[in-house]
Amino acid sequence: MTLRKALLSWFDKHARVLPFRGTRDPYAVWVSEIMLQQTRVDTVVRYYDRFMNRFPTPQALAEASEDEVMSHWSGLGYYRRARLLHKGVKEVVAEYGGVVPQDATARRQLPGIGRYTAGAIGSIAFEQEEPLVDGNVARVFSRLYGIDTPLGRSDTEKALWARAEQLVRGPRPGTLNQALMELGATACSKANPDCAACPVSKHCIAFKEGRTAELPVVRKKTPPKPTPTVALLATTKAGHVYLQRGDKNLFGGLWNLPMADGSTHADADALLAQSPLRGRLPSAPSAQLTHVLSHRRLEVQLYQLIASGAEREDFKAFPPETLAELGVSTLTRKALRAAGL
Ligand code: SF4
Repeated sequence: MTLRKALLSWFDKHARVLPFRGTRDPYAVWVSEIMLQQTRVDTVVRYYDRFMNRFPTPQALAEASEDEVMSHWSGLGYYRRARLLHKGVKEVVAEYGGVVPQDATARRQLPGIGRYTAGAIGSIAFEQEEPLVDGNVARVFSRLYGIDTPLGRSDTEKALWARAEQLVRGPRPGTLNQALMELGATACSKANPDCAACPVSKHCIAFKEGRTAELPVVRKKTPPKPTPTVALLATTKAGHVYLQRGDKNLFGGLWNLPMADGSTHADADALLAQSPLRGRLPSAPSAQLTHVLSHRRLEVQLYQLIASGAEREDFKAFPPETLAELGVSTLTRKALRAAGL
C-alpha cells in the first residue's frame, strides 16, 4: 500500500473523536487551529465548545468586545493569538461579507493566518491541495524521511514543506493532513513512538535504521529567564480589585495586577508611587508566586493593601464577582486565588 493510502485508511479507522473534528466550516477550522497552536488538545477540548457557543459565526466574533473575547480565551495562554484571530475575523466580515476566502493568497493576507493555518483551512474546509507542517507533522516527516538537520533551521523547514507539498497532492487532502497530525499526536510521539502500531512503518527510514530516538534533531531551547517581579493586590474598602490593562506583548492586553520588575520592598513602593493608587504598602509581601511565560519565569512578590485612587480607561477597580467575565491573565487569577478572592 502507498504511504498516502496507508495514512488515509489508518485515519479512517483510528481518528480520535474530538469536538472540532468533522466540521468543514472554515471559520470553525480557523478557530480550532489557532487554539491548537502551542496548546494541548485536551486543554483545547475544554475551551472550544464554550468559545463556539458564544461566537458561533464570524459576525458574532467580529461584533464582540476584546474583553469578551479574551475572557473566553483566558486559560488557553498565548493571548496574542486571540487578538489576531479577532482582528482577522473582523477583516473577513468587513472585506468578504463574513465568508472566509477560499483563495489561498487572500487567506494568507489575513491577520494571524500564517502558512500553517492557511493550509489547515484550505485543506480541511475547502479540500484544496494545500500543505501544512506543524510540530507533529515535522516530527513524523523527520523520522519518515530521515531528515537529520535541526528543526527550526531554514533548510529543514524547506525540506519539510517540500515533503508536505508532495504528499498532499491527491484525493482527500484535508484528511491526509489530519492523518499526519494525528499520527504525530498519537503513535509517532516524541518519546517512545509506537512503531508496531504505525501504519507507515514500512516506509519509515528512522524505524528501518533504528534511529527513532535520534530524530527529529531538536535545537536546544534556552530556559525561561528568572525575572524578579513585584505586584500589588490593591482593593478598595468595598473589596473591589484594582487592575490595569497589561502590556500587549507580555499579557496580550489582558487585565492584570499592577506589576513591575524588582524584588525589594523599595521596588514595590516605587510601583505604588508610579500608579494612580494611594495607600500604604505592608512591611512584607503577603505571598510569593512563580509564573512561567514562554521566555520568562516570573518570581512574584505579592503585596496586598487597601487603596484608593483615580480610575482611568486602563486602570480600574472591579467588583470580584465580575472578574470571571473579564479578560484577566492567569497570573492575576493565581494571585487572586492566593489572596482568597
Ligand atoms: Fe513514527 Fe515509528 Fe511510524 Fe516511523 S514507524 S513514523 S518513527 S511511529
